[in-house]
Amino acid sequence: MMTVSKQQIHRQLAKIAGPDGKGDLISLGLVSEIVIHDGTVDFALNIDKERAAELEPMRKAAEHAVGQVEGVDRVRVVLTAHAPEGAVNPRRASRSAIDVPGVERIIAVASGKGGVGKSTVAVNLAFGLTKLGLKVGILDADIYGPSMPRLLGLGDTPMPESRERVIIPAMAFGVKAMSMGFLVGEEEPVIWRGPMVISALERMLRGVAWGRLDVLVVDMPPGTGDAQLTMAQKVRLAGAAIVSTPQDLALVDARRGLNMFRRVDVPVLGLVENMSYFLCPHCGARSEIFGHGGAREEAGRLGVEFLGEVPLDRLLRERGDRGRPIVVSEPDSLHAKIFRDMAAHIWAGLEADNHDNTRPFPKIVVE
Ligand code: ADP
Repeated sequence: MMTVSKQQIHRQLAKIAGPDGKGDLISLGLVSEIVIHDGTVDFALNIDKERAAELEPMRKAAEHAVGQVEGVDRVRVVLTAHAPEGAVNPRRASRSAIDVPGVERIIAVASGKGGVGKSTVAVNLAFGLTKLGLKVGILDADIYGPSMPRLLGLGDTPMPESRERVIIPAMAFGVKAMSMGFLVGEEEPVIWRGPMVISALERMLRGVAWGRLDVLVVDMPPGTGDAQLTMAQKVRLAGAAIVSTPQDLALVDARRGLNMFRRVDVPVLGLVENMSYFLCPHCGARSEIFGHGGAREEAGRLGVEFLGEVPLDRLLRERGDRGRPIVVSEPDSLHAKIFRDMAAHIWAGLEADNHDNTRPFPKIVVE
């Protein structure tokens, strides 16, 4: 049987013009997660609710275009819409969204796929934020590969003690830290089901004595599957930073990550290019192995901030993997400065957003 790839579907959808004849369905970020099963392809197009009738031809065109892909014998495209303003009962929404008392803002660090250095960026960004004088916590919510215990040098720390059913977070260089890894261990394979993800997440957020924090940095699981979407929807996020490497493929994934947050109305704080260029430890020369700069251009195209480029560097890896994050272990290095600048950039954006954490959570309505 022919196997159909998401890339093939994307290529077709990139040919269909958006609602106002401008851009295309892919670049406008209107396409949901695509599900391919045997020869059947399912996905949704996100549009304004009022325009459903008017945009029926666009839906049909998308269906037709995807039907042209070899191996596809059935296409189901639905139009989805955020509930119009006012339709969401903010009280009900806020009860369903996980809030953490005492924590001013929660920001997510996410990536469209694994291994791009998301956790490394999350940790160093968190320490960068402390350098701004902020009280910071780190939550490693990466259920698939919790790496915080290692990155923070807490590998041998047993599950933090709990008092009266409240977990006392671990402390790493002055930052409170919790990790799914404390619950499951880094090597243990775990199959997480939706409800488990939410209850574990809820426990990590509400069952932990975070105290008063200006910002809690959440290291999200890589990818854009159900677990990630549920997290993005369930936690009241002030924003999300997306980490990508410069290769094109990773950027496609980054775009998907970005669209996921947009779909649930979480502000995208910007794009970080990690492993951007190679910094020679001997001569200090810079080589652009992957043809760097892709993320900056992509950020421009997608209309999001570019938060900075982090070099591919041995010191960064060694320090990171030994639990000595570069921002704290080499505060005078170029890397530390990059992360401090990134933190300042993000914080400025959040402050400009004027701290609107009362924003009701929109629901996705599937018609
Ligand atoms: P992710 O969270 O995306 O899976 P990690 O942060 O765990 O990625 O990084 C994966 C590996 O790459 C780790 O060994 C880490 O130390 C290394 N790494 C991450 N960023 C860099 C970088 N800029 N330079 C060198 N090594 C890096």
